[in-house]
Amino acid sequence: MDYSPRMSRIKESATFKYSALAKKPGVIDLTIGRTNFDTPRAIKDAAKKALDEGKVNYTPTKGIPELREKIAEKLRDANNIQSLDKENVLVSAGAKQLIFEAVLALVGEGDTVALPDPSWVSYESIVEFAGGKTAWLPTHPERGFIPEETFLSALENSKPKLVLLNTPNNPTGAVYPPKVIKQVVDICERKDAWLLSDEIYEEIIYEGEHFSAGSIYDKCITVNGYSKNCSMTGWRLGYAASKNREVIEKMNAIQEQSVSCATSFVQYAGIAAYTKEARKETTAMREELRKRRDHLSRRLSELDAVYVKPAGAFYVFPSFGDTDELKLADKLINAGVATIPGSPFGSKGKGCLRLSYGAASIEQIDEAIERMKKSIP
Ligand code: PMP
Ligand code: GLU
Repeated sequence: MDYSPRMSRIKESATFKYSALAKKPGVIDLTIGRTNFDTPRAIKDAAKKALDEGKVNYTPTKGIPELREKIAEKLRDANNIQSLDKENVLVSAGAKQLIFEAVLALVGEGDTVALPDPSWVSYESIVEFAGGKTAWLPTHPERGFIPEETFLSALENSKPKLVLLNTPNNPTGAVYPPKVIKQVVDICERKDAWLLSDEIYEEIIYEGEHFSAGSIYDKCITVNGYSKNCSMTGWRLGYAASKNREVIEKMNAIQEQSVSCATSFVQYAGIAAYTKEARKETTAMREELRKRRDHLSRRLSELDAVYVKPAGAFYVFPSFGDTDELKLADKLINAGVATIPGSPFGSKGKGCLRLSYGAASIEQIDEAIERMKKSIP
C-alpha cells in the first residue's frame, strides 16, 4: 500500500501489544503500566458535577485557566520551578500527547535526541516519526540503572538538540539523584540543548528524592499527568510546563491543529486532584504499591535473574542473561504470566523482562513467580 514514508519510522507499542496478548483467561497480567486502584472519589465527583453543569464544549486549547493555575502553583511549591504562571502551562490528552508535541516542535529532520538506554518504548518512535535520530545513553543494572560515567560521556560526545530524562524511570524503577540531574543539566547548558523531563511517576517514590530539572534549567519542559498518581490512565489528562513560554506556544500550535484540547469535564475533574481527599488516596496507593514491590523483589530472588530493587514507579526489570527475551515472554504467556520483553526499551533491555506490579495482588505475584519458576530453567 502507498503509505507515507514516515509510517516506516513508527513502531507498534510493545506495551499495548503485550497487554492485548495478556487478555486470555487465567493469564496473570504484569504488562501495561497502570494500577488497579480506582480514581479518587473527589475527582470522579468533580467530573460528574462538571457534566451536570454542562461543561461539554471546547475549552481554550491550552486548557481551562483554573486547572493551569493549580498546575503552576503545584510546580512552584512542590517542584521549586519558580516564576511559572498559567501561561507557562499546557494541558492535553495525556502526557504522551505532550511528549509528541514537544518533540514535533523541537526536532527536525536529522536532529539528534539523546535518551537513556533503556527508556520507555514510545520515546524512540516519537523521535523517529519526527525525523530525529536517537543517541542512546547507556545505564547499567549493576549501577541500579542510574546514569553514571558512561552515560555522561555518551552525552558529552553527542550533539543533542533535545535530551529526554525520565525519573522515576520506566522501565527500571530507578530514581535519579539530584546530583545526577544537575550533571545532565550542566551538559545540556553547555551544549545549549533542550531537556524534556518526564516526571509522570513523581509521586510513586519509595526511597530517594524527586528533583525537577526545570527548577534549575530554563530550556526544560517538565511533563507530568494524572495517569499514575491518580489512577487515571483512561481519562487522558496530562500537562507540560516550561519557563520558556515560546516552546509552550509552539506545542499549543500543534495542539490547536490536532487534538484541539483535553476533554472539558476531565479538565474540571483534574482540579480535584489537588484536594486533600484525593492526595490521601494517592498516599494510600503508594503504600500498597510499596508492599507489592517489597514482596515481588523478595520473591524474584528465587529465579536465576539479576535485578535491582526499584526505588520508584511500579516496574521491576530483571535480566535473564543471554536468554532471548522475546521468546521467553512468549513462553511465559503460554505458561500463564504476561510480561513485556526488554528489547523494545533499548539494547540494554536485551535479556530482560519488564514486570509491572501496579495491577497485581500479592497472591497474583506469588502465583506468577511459581509459574515463572517452572518455565525458566
Ligand atoms: N511517560 C512515561 C514514562 C510513561 O510510562 C507513560 C505511560 N503512562 C507516559 C509518559 C504517558 O502517560 P499518559 O497516560 O499521561 O499519556
Ligand atoms: N506507559 C505505560 C507503560 O509503559 C502505559 C502504556 C504506554 O503508554 O506505553 O506500560
